[in-house]
Amino acid sequence: MQTSTLDILRCPYCGGRLTLVTSMFHRATGEEIRDGILGCHCCIFPIVDGIPVLHLLPPSVAARDQVEAKRPEQALRSMLGLDNDDQAAQFEAAAASDAATYKDVVEALGPNFEGGYFLYRFSDPTYMVANAVVRAVAGAVLHGARRAVDICGGSGHLTRSLMDLSSPPPVLADLYFAKVWLARRFTAPGCEPVCCDGNAPMPFARGAFGYAMCSDAFQYIWTKRQFVGEMARLVDAPGEPGAVVINHTHNALAWCPSHGQPLEPAGYLDLFETIEPRIFAEAGLFADVVKGGPLDLARRDAREALDRDPALTIVATRHAGVFTAHPLETPGRARGAFRVNPLYETRRNGDRLSLKLRFPSADYEEEYGACRLYLPEETSLELALLRALEAGQHPEGVEELIRRRVIVDLPNRYY
Ligand SMILES: [Zn+2]
Repeated sequence: MQTSTLDILRCPYCGGRLTLVTSMFHRATGEEIRDGILGCHCCIFPIVDGIPVLHLLPPSVAARDQVEAKRPEQALRSMLGLDNDDQAAQFEAAAASDAATYKDVVEALGPNFEGGYFLYRFSDPTYMVANAVVRAVAGAVLHGARRAVDICGGSGHLTRSLMDLSSPPPVLADLYFAKVWLARRFTAPGCEPVCCDGNAPMPFARGAFGYAMCSDAFQYIWTKRQFVGEMARLVDAPGEPGAVVINHTHNALAWCPSHGQPLEPAGYLDLFETIEPRIFAEAGLFADVVKGGPLDLARRDAREALDRDPALTIVATRHAGVFTAHPLETPGRARGAFRVNPLYETRRNGDRLSLKLRFPSADYEEEYGACRLYLPEETSLELALLRALEAGQHPEGVEELIRRRVIVDLPNRYY
């Protein structure tokens, strides 16, 4: 972690500042802390492989004892849940290799690690809407001059969307250490990961951010009232208003295959005491994205539309630049690498590549099949065009393929 991040970290329990306990084992340079112990008024927390662990759940307590005992590599195993030596050796080999991909490391973490459908994340409908909302709202409120936090951001697929908007780089907070570790290495390199519990007060100072978001996770939070109050506190700074965004939270009034404790739309609105939120039915935002924009955040969705949509987007801000229509961007240059969407089966056909859409499972198709609205069933592209893209050029005719996610901008060494 960056030493400067200590300025915005606070103990989730006593609210006190955290400082490196230099009398205990630590490995640090002036700017960075790799391993050590952070102390506040009430307790101490470990920093494991550069990631502060700001909760007191059993792995954190074990890791803290191991850092104190000068065994940081054991602390890393504890935080990754690697209790078997073979699995741990497999992970350590993958982590040490420059050639290892995100997929390799996920596999090395073993069958208990929930890898899910990460390979297809960058073109699934939930991501498409959330990414468009993040780019529009964070773009308006941060404009490269303030910092963002992605809470319950998992392995950083949307933290990646904040990298060029947030300054300093965004903070990614999640309970799952392995996920934020993966994000820092692959998905959102340069982000500042923090391991903390979304059901506890957030370990950050008031007004530390201009933008706070939580995507596809809020329905799993039990302490929803505290969580929203905390998000509002994090963006409560004098001057230009900040924004709180909750993407893709489930609706208690509409059936949905995933678990969690969703609220109905009126219940979500009641959580906000200090900033009046607007709530959007995801279907309307998705339709905007499918037709190529603009993303109309000036819309006021009717109660019936909200009540019947399985997923909702909530935006709370007093910023004048947010509730308006936002053009969608088509990236001209890859943040990582432009590659053929892994949902396509490819076959070489002379100087062309034939592509056929193939879902990884019937479950995937049921949950994300709406991607058919932009991913063509079959298509083909010139091999020369693909080679030019891979070489960092921007050949003619490529915009439409990128806009429809036939070609996706994936992190380097993703799979
Ligand atoms: Zn404390």
